[in-house]
Amino acid sequence: MLFSTATRTVLRSVGSVPRSTFAFSSPFNNNSSTLRRLLSSLAILEQRDGKLNHGSLSAITAAKKLGGSIHGFVAGSNIKPVAEEAAKVEGVEKIIAVDNAAYDKGLPENFAPLLVENIKKGGYTHIIAGHTAFGKSLLPRVAALLDSQQISDITAIENENTFVRPIYAGNAIATVESSDLVKVITIRGTAFPAAEAQGGSATIEDGVDPNVEISVEWVSEDLAKSDRPDLATAGKVVSGGRGLKSKEDFDRIMLPLADALGAAVGASRAAVDSGYADNSLQVGQTGKVVAPQLYLAVGISGAIQHLAGMKDSKVIAAINKDAEAPIFQVADVGLVGDLFEKVPELTEKLKSS
Ligand SMILES: Cc1cc2nc3c(=O)[nH]c(=O)nc-3n(C[C@H](O)[C@H](O)[C@H](O)COP(=O)(O)OP(=O)(O)OC[C@H]3O[C@@H](n4cnc5c(N)ncnc54)[C@H](O)[C@@H]3O)c2cc1C
Repeated sequence: MLFSTATRTVLRSVGSVPRSTFAFSSPFNNNSSTLRRLLSSLAILEQRDGKLNHGSLSAITAAKKLGGSIHGFVAGSNIKPVAEEAAKVEGVEKIIAVDNAAYDKGLPENFAPLLVENIKKGGYTHIIAGHTAFGKSLLPRVAALLDSQQISDITAIENENTFVRPIYAGNAIATVESSDLVKVITIRGTAFPAAEAQGGSATIEDGVDPNVEISVEWVSEDLAKSDRPDLATAGKVVSGGRGLKSKEDFDRIMLPLADALGAAVGASRAAVDSGYADNSLQVGQTGKVVAPQLYLAVGISGAIQHLAGMKDSKVIAAINKDAEAPIFQVADVGLVGDLFEKVPELTEKLKSS
């Protein structure tokens, strides 16, 4: 929760927490000076191995909601093709590009000072990045260097100073008003669809490169590779829980179901902690937040921390042997039964349909 001289927070509770409202006003609100400046946003775009991450185009959608001019920012080695791809995104006026291999891995230690130099040069009023691992580790440092207060994981924009964000695992909604001169914001990807990758014709400009020396070094990474759809952006997700009993059964039951549906695979934290699934597949408060067209929960009880990551799914279906399981309170479609019997049956029906 944000308590500072620069913010005003209004909380609205939802779900099981009793409904109540609190307001914290600041005697130091400084909106007039903010309004005097022209609104301009810098959207931080992510890239990996010279490929633009299209999920990060959500930052441009959020910037469009704010209005004003929109620039995009990319950095890394051989950045030209990425900058050219980003320049085609609809609604962007300019891409600021910094070509330097030092930024390839997105280390916040040198990326934050790089960004700050470019923010100061551009005089932006809003800095926007996805609430991804990259955005979450980068923007707090940027905010600190700018003496601003970060506004995290927003799901809506009310106006240029006022933003909406879920707190307490989605059980309360905070409306946060900021009077910082530069708003530093991360956005929830499921609340802002990626901007159209085509239709724009932005100019490309070299950014400033302070090339700051850092005391950390990139050593290695261990990437989970899969041919299935990406969990964070998939239209259909099938998630398995502790009810699957073992990794062998998780793979035997869940993977054919995912393939029959063309779905991404997710898991509860209990399934991840028990070693049934990789932790990149965890859905929930401390995992990924997803909002697919269809979310099918198999052998998942529906703990509040799990719901925090999937309750905005368009259709929620659940298979559980316990008719009293809390997942059925949020499910649109429920099947009470033994997953070891029902899921293979469903998979066979899907394959033959
Ligand atoms: C700070 C914090 C953060 C957390 N973050 C997350 C998070 O990000 N994501 C997350 O998922 N959890 C998170 N948790 C954990 C969460 O509280 C639950 O413990 C967890 O979600 C339970 O996982 P589960 O539903 O798979 O297991 P259980 O709660 O054990 O449920 C298993 C379900 O399987 C059903 N089942 C068993 N056998 C069968 C069968 N043969 N056929 C059909 N159904 C069957 C049971 O009826 C039961 O409902 C967090 C907890 C804390 C404290």
